[in-house]
Amino acid sequence: MEQYRVTPGAAANLTARDPRDSAAFDGGKSAGRKAAKAANAELEHLQELLYAEGKHKILVVLQAMDTGGKDGTIRHVFDGTNPQGVKVASFKKPTPEELAHDYIWRVHKHTPRSGEITIFNRSHYEDVLVVRVHDLVPPAVSEQRFEHINSFEQMLTDEGTTIVKLFLHISKEEQRVRLQARIDDPEKHWKFSFGDLGERKLWDQYLQAYEEAITRTNAVSAPWYVIPADRKWYRNLVITRILVDTLARLEMAYPEPEGNLEGVVVE
Ligand code: AMP
Ligand code: MG
Repeated sequence: MEQYRVTPGAAANLTARDPRDSAAFDGGKSAGRKAAKAANAELEHLQELLYAEGKHKILVVLQAMDTGGKDGTIRHVFDGTNPQGVKVASFKKPTPEELAHDYIWRVHKHTPRSGEITIFNRSHYEDVLVVRVHDLVPPAVSEQRFEHINSFEQMLTDEGTTIVKLFLHISKEEQRVRLQARIDDPEKHWKFSFGDLGERKLWDQYLQAYEEAITRTNAVSAPWYVIPADRKWYRNLVITRILVDTLARLEMAYPEPEGNLEGVVVE
């Protein structure tokens, strides 16, 4: 899965990456789903170990264009994990209260505690993405934010957080199909917003903003992965495997028992 990790120091090069790529898996959709299920069982086990050990903190940052699959990723990849140790924090358009603070304020209070995985459904990255595309702050202000974000993430890492950043990379054509489905299917109407059509017109500007944000915040200790996301089964498989590999590298262990349990019988 390292092929989807952006090489530190190199450009993200999004336009050269194929959203329909499925090169890391030899089978088709149904075999891919089975493989994802097997990886999911591993993730469940590792998440329990993480929770039991209570030592590491895991932050998963999910970013994507509209309809990119953030919600589906959360639903499928974390299926079966224990809600006691897995949190989701979703960041929408900032409230007046949030806007009255610095832009890190609202995210910092949701960073994971020891033993926990926190998934950011959107994140502080919006403040160098949508904010730049729509000129919501002067360029001189947003320009400084790349450095803030790197420092903030470095601080989290130094304090024991493992950060994994995932950009779900869909094609413009796939977005068209998914938006149309939200219009055509009454059960998906709730997901549709007329604003999405306006944002779609800014596709190239968003891609450019992602290109720059990913390239400039791709620290060795807080890597970005660009996930081919047109095929949902492949997206789920790749992400689950990345998380399994990330957790496995922590070499976690269950805590030692309180005392010698040999021969202890419950009456
Ligand atoms: P959704 O993820 O579909 O629920 O939409 C959330 C919306 O909130 C998206 O259009 C984001 O671009 C927007 N949003 C999130 N964070 C910010 C931010 N910091 N500034 C402006 N808009 C934001
Ligand atoms: Mg939306």
